[in-house]
Amino acid sequence: MIKENIVQILKIIPKDVTVVAATKARGIPDIQEAWQAGIFIMGENYIQEAKDKIEFIGKKVKWHLIGHLQKNKAKLAINLFDMIETLDSLELAKVLNQQCQKINKIMPVLIEVNSAREENKQGVLPEELLDLVKEVKPLEHLKLMGLMTMGPVLNDYKLIRPYFRLTKQLFDQIKLTYPQDKDFIYLSMGMSDSYKIAIEEGANIVRIGSAIFGNREKK
Ligand SMILES: *Cc1c(COP(=O)(O)O)cnc(C)c1O
Repeated sequence: MIKENIVQILKIIPKDVTVVAATKARGIPDIQEAWQAGIFIMGENYIQEAKDKIEFIGKKVKWHLIGHLQKNKAKLAINLFDMIETLDSLELAKVLNQQCQKINKIMPVLIEVNSAREENKQGVLPEELLDLVKEVKPLEHLKLMGLMTMGPVLNDYKLIRPYFRLTKQLFDQIKLTYPQDKDFIYLSMGMSDSYKIAIEEGANIVRIGSAIFGNREKK
């Protein structure tokens, strides 16, 4: 089933859009199957869960952190992940930068935008984004490569379009502000029920879980 799902998805999305398989709560065999079907980036939400999987599966695939990162886990995260999609504060950026300096690593990061301005939601508010970009760019051990957003949880997934559109506008605004910056290229938005809308609105990374692996067991 996983293979068939992936074949279908890869058939309909444009070639320049990258699928990240959202693998939280999925076992090693499922991830192996996704890799064999042509998915080369896995997105994990939790550090410890990711660590166990990464130690087993290794670096034949790339690993993105797509869940919130606490500062005290920064050191573990930079050792495990190839990209952190959820940078959301200057404090976290500084800690990551410091830890990367120690191991002489340059960490690709995306800034997470709280595009619906929801309380208790991770991500930087749209009006605070440009300041954060300005502060993160000089940090030598981070490579700011774009933006990520979740958008709100909605009863009707079609209502998510304006949040994706806003995030794309912010993305374009940053590109205009830094025309020399060749690294700022990724816009990660869209999940199983919204990835088609996200691609229409300019996403070039989509994070897909249940449409690949089936519905998660409710815990
Ligand atoms: C779980 C998750 C996804 C994928 O969600 P599905 O609806 O299962 O496709 C995408 N992004 C993040 C940040 C997630 O936590």
